[in-house]
Amino acid sequence: MESLFVSVRGARRHLASVSCTVSTIAFLLLTVLPAAAQKNNVILFVGDGMGVSTVTSTRIATVGVDGQLALDRMPYTAISRTASADYITPDSAATMSAMMTGVNTNTGVIGYGPTTEYADFNGNGDGARLRNIGELAISMGYAVGIVTTTRVTHATPAAVFAHVNDRNLENEIAAQAVPGGAGFNTRIGDGLHVIFGGGRRHFLPTSASDDEGLPGSRSDGRDLRNELHQQGYRYVWNRQGLNSLGGSGRAIGLFASSHLEYEADRNSGQPSLEEMTRKAIQILSATGKPFFLMVEAGRIDHAHHEGSAFRAFTDTRMLDRAINAAQRSVNLNRTLILATADHSHVFTIAGYPMRPLGDLQYNPRSVPASFRNQPYNGILGTVHDIDSGGTISESGDSGGIPYTILGYANGPGHRSGSRVNPNSDRTAGYGGAVPSSTSHTAYRQEATVPLFLETHAGEDVMIYAVGRTAENVRGTVPNIKVFDWIRDGFADRGSRPSQPDPGPDPDPDPTPEPPPQSEVCTPTSALLRLDGDYEISMCYRTPGGEEGQAKSAPWSDESAILWFFNRSNAEVLVKVLNGCGNNRHRWVFVAPVTTLEFNLWVTAPDGERWTHTNRQGETAATKSDTSAFRCAD
Ligand SMILES: [Zn+2]
Repeated sequence: MESLFVSVRGARRHLASVSCTVSTIAFLLLTVLPAAAQKNNVILFVGDGMGVSTVTSTRIATVGVDGQLALDRMPYTAISRTASADYITPDSAATMSAMMTGVNTNTGVIGYGPTTEYADFNGNGDGARLRNIGELAISMGYAVGIVTTTRVTHATPAAVFAHVNDRNLENEIAAQAVPGGAGFNTRIGDGLHVIFGGGRRHFLPTSASDDEGLPGSRSDGRDLRNELHQQGYRYVWNRQGLNSLGGSGRAIGLFASSHLEYEADRNSGQPSLEEMTRKAIQILSATGKPFFLMVEAGRIDHAHHEGSAFRAFTDTRMLDRAINAAQRSVNLNRTLILATADHSHVFTIAGYPMRPLGDLQYNPRSVPASFRNQPYNGILGTVHDIDSGGTISESGDSGGIPYTILGYANGPGHRSGSRVNPNSDRTAGYGGAVPSSTSHTAYRQEATVPLFLETHAGEDVMIYAVGRTAENVRGTVPNIKVFDWIRDGFADRGSRPSQPDPGPDPDPDPTPEPPPQSEVCTPTSALLRLDGDYEISMCYRTPGGEEGQAKSAPWSDESAILWFFNRSNAEVLVKVLNGCGNNRHRWVFVAPVTTLEFNLWVTAPDGERWTHTNRQGETAATKSDTSAFRCAD
């Protein structure tokens, strides 16, 4: 009975969505650096269902096995545990609610705690609404925006600002976003500043047709587009409208009746996730306020549910482009960018597939046509390997039949009966089209267990970070930690000793571990001023865990050398380049000649601070940040 209930519930949710010696030089020891009193922007990117295998396959398909996605270039990472309060394998409502409130909750529930059951099936009410990040940010004077490829009322965007015990109550979620209207969540003040995505139908009454002639789904007769317009929002419904938006005014863009199309199927009337992200940042930046922006690539998840790896990685690639665009359009000294997934999918990169032919550093003796010039670096193809004689051929299953590299543990890609050769498999695929090969856009990867919709997976996912306070992001953490990192980003709390994991250990270890060490070292030392009044300070830590301060001396009027106590050799050269780069920024150049861990700070005359963290074992590498400080106007 329980399993039946669970499967019906799960199905219903998914059906509802788819570096001289310098020892004589004097040095200055100054006091603790003053805490910077700045409010930072935070941008959170969520790849819905973007498990590690999804990131890897996207990388291979688009930039190659050794390539780097924008995600791969983000310098700080953590591993996120995703279990909801009641499920090992969670849904987006519970996970995003956890990330947006700092409290884990039950599957299907948004903005309430773990004692609130899905749809209040015990009839005992919902209890207290939790404070979500949208409410927190707005109470701190932030402008808040959401961008998604799903309906803006879908679970992930909804968790930024709404509270519901059932994620399917999307009409109610829409009403919670409309200032002055019945059901408005007054804890978000004057409302969200930017709302871009799909879901027009939840803003229109059933009696009305939307901009594309499709019916609304509200039974209360309200046209929320008009209500939002009366509240000063600018409403746009297509790509042209989005492009026309300028200035700092509030804006809502609803670009589809339901979800936006998959990136692979997108028409020119719909904006891309990158375009919506750029516009949202432009508008939010123009407000002059600090901002919080959540950007979701919501349909990676749907593509996996439909057994379409191609659509999953094309949507993931677009998310990666949006992340790259965001990094280039904000000041990372004042902005924290996080990217994560809410959960994974039962999607695997299986067998022992070889790299593409062009990657190989030897010449195979024989290469079949099926292995040459494969699109997407071969990731959509069948598994090939090489024998001891140098012949490359397709790998077979126990019966000798080839199999694809990508596959699912369950889902609609299940083939009934015995396996057929994927190269000649004409099973109807995505949209009913018959694929001509495994690289065809309609090809559904094989699934072991037949299910109408492929399922989420319960393993951990990644959290990536870059920018201000990004150094906080580390460890294996419950997903609620994302809330803490966003809040600490707002308050500019970074480079701090690690915090103990929340909650008691239910199974105490009989041999207690030593207390956790601080992350590199604490900001207490030094030091001197360079031309232009840039302050340099630094501290270090030895492999034995001993922390210490550093000495410094000017090297030229724009550079300094720094070394550690008890050591006579300069170990770090730091330079703040005068003049202004073509990106209207001054840059900082750091050349460490040490393998010790150290933190280095450069503080501009206006208090703006740039931080470099050198980790144990990193050496002699030249590190520069060409946009460390904005030039004086
Ligand atoms: Zn899903």
